[in-house]
Amino acid sequence: MDFGIRGKTALVCGASKGLGRGCAEALAAEGVDVTLVARGAEALEKTAEEIRRATGVKVTTVACDVTTPEGRQQVLQACPQPDILVTNAGGPPTGDFRTFSRDDWIKAIDANMLTPIELIKATVDGMIARRFGRIVNITSSAVKAPLDVLALSNGARSGLTGFIAGLARKTVPHNVTINNLLPGQFATDRLQVTIGAAAKSVGKPVDEVFEARRKQIPAQRFGTPEEFGAVCAFLCSMQAGYMTGQNVLLDGGNYPGTF
Ligand code: NAD
Repeated sequence: MDFGIRGKTALVCGASKGLGRGCAEALAAEGVDVTLVARGAEALEKTAEEIRRATGVKVTTVACDVTTPEGRQQVLQACPQPDILVTNAGGPPTGDFRTFSRDDWIKAIDANMLTPIELIKATVDGMIARRFGRIVNITSSAVKAPLDVLALSNGARSGLTGFIAGLARKTVPHNVTINNLLPGQFATDRLQVTIGAAAKSVGKPVDEVFEARRKQIPAQRFGTPEEFGAVCAFLCSMQAGYMTGQNVLLDGGNYPGTF
């Protein structure tokens, strides 16, 4: 299927690795020029070169911390008018909520709620004026099925989800859609971190906890960044213009509810 987005421009955050990279690769494969943002320049340049070689699209890089005002300024200078925006940043630390300070909460809210809102604020009116825009926020299955150790993530991402629910109905008459993609358990560096923390908290070997987690997933495996990217590219397609304000869960069947 041709997604009809060849020649569009996308700003993809957290794009040197993992889920963000999966989204950037899938969009580039559809002929979208991409601006990739990540903190570490080395991994970012490597990813950019691999995407250029594989797809031939224009790839721009910005090495910065997107959760800071200076970082966002750099990003928006490099890509002031994207047609597609994928918001993403590292997840907050896991742990018992009793151990988190006010500063920990502010950091999580900054990274996983206010940064996406600031990026949307800076780009959505241009999309509305051009009568095309696709915004995808990478959130978490924890928004739908919270886990106690993900307290910071549960709180900050739920705030973003509530905000998006209101805005997404205002932009859709202008062919600008906003949806959230909710990863369950995907085989990325972040998964190693969260499983490592879980193993430590129960005093079990990491491999054992990894295997137990895998077996709990109805699909009997972790998701891949490629699978995640493919759904992101569909949400950014012309065909998905009637879909907005949705929370799309990608978790191999792990969420047990009917809806
Ligand atoms: P990852 O660690 O594999 O990759 C994160 C990417 O984001 C890297 O490119 C990194 O450089 C970049 N990044 C991190 N913080 C940044 C910042 N402040 N500024 C700019 N770039 C930054 O992580 P992932 O597994 O791809 O996860 C992406 C998001 O999805 C995270 O918020 C994570 O909490 C969430 N998530 C992941 C899973 C999973 O199973 N992998 C599950 C639920 C939620």
